[in-house]
Amino acid sequence: MRAVVIDQFGVPPTLREVPSPACPADGVVLRVTATGVCRSDWHGWQGHDDDITLPHVPGHELAGVVVEVGPGVRSWVVGDEVTVPFVCACGTCPACLAGEHQVCERQRQPGFTDDGSFAELVALHHADVNLVRLPAGMSPVTAAGLGCRFATAYRAVTVHGRVSAGDWVAVHGCGGVGLSAIMVAAAAGARVVAIDVSSAARSAALEMGATAVLDGSGDVGAQVHALTDGGAAVSIDALGSRETAAASVLSLRRRGRHVQVGLLLCDDAAPPLPMGRVIGWELEIYGSHGMAAHEYPAMLARIASGELDPSRLVGRTIPLDDAPAALAALSAGSNGPGMTVIVP
Ligand SMILES: [Zn+2]
Ligand SMILES: [Zn+2]
Repeated sequence: MRAVVIDQFGVPPTLREVPSPACPADGVVLRVTATGVCRSDWHGWQGHDDDITLPHVPGHELAGVVVEVGPGVRSWVVGDEVTVPFVCACGTCPACLAGEHQVCERQRQPGFTDDGSFAELVALHHADVNLVRLPAGMSPVTAAGLGCRFATAYRAVTVHGRVSAGDWVAVHGCGGVGLSAIMVAAAAGARVVAIDVSSAARSAALEMGATAVLDGSGDVGAQVHALTDGGAAVSIDALGSRETAAASVLSLRRRGRHVQVGLLLCDDAAPPLPMGRVIGWELEIYGSHGMAAHEYPAMLARIASGELDPSRLVGRTIPLDDAPAALAALSAGSNGPGMTVIVP
């Protein structure tokens, strides 16, 4: 099969023929029909993720068709159209038994712990626990973004943020996950202030339902407080940096909730946060790490009803041949507004 292969961290990956993946006994092999280009792939390519061993195939935001089924799989057959959370949970550890698959103790992640979906085929483990059937009529391109950015944003807004109608929500960073959070919060009736240094990203934020935008210069926390009459009820760092994490906490009103969605890696791994404010104002701080497959039906129902429309988050589609260049473009910033999705 053809796959995008990283041989050396930071050196452009190459598209070439590699052996097809073996089917795990408890898993499946998918023919990849769409796979998103995410900043997490860029971090992996740069060597920021200790789970990756070289050579490596990136890609974790995928949709595909089942082409092979392991002997231990009960629920899936060849031909099923599916997606998966980026965390493929084991289903049997204490976290999984508590229903918290997104923090599984023995998780496998395609594109990180295992070869991923920048390829014609990808193997997935624990299929009965993790596969999610695509609703009728949903395109693979739309579905590809669900397992990482959209589901993570959905859970950040609904479970951690507990956003209600009329709340002010601040979203720091308006890439794929930030725009997803804006859409979900706006659908809940919240007023959203979106922050991004890119004017194109700010325009996209307004299209997704943001009430106000800021360009990230100056004292962002103070600007959010001025716009929101005392601070946001919920603030989401959808970028992941020392600056945006701190600005997000400082955007909150008393008893507000900060949700860290953007990955904090390398120099940003231990950001200084204003913990004095956290104590004095009784702020809550959450991390958000995707969403378990068993939580998908509620989200998919809201997509099916038209209340949420993740297809609007797709910026452009590209062939597998263009994947190395799309990864490299993230070094300079982004691939433009919205999600870039590879159609192999
Ligand atoms: Zn991702
Ligand atoms: Zn587990």
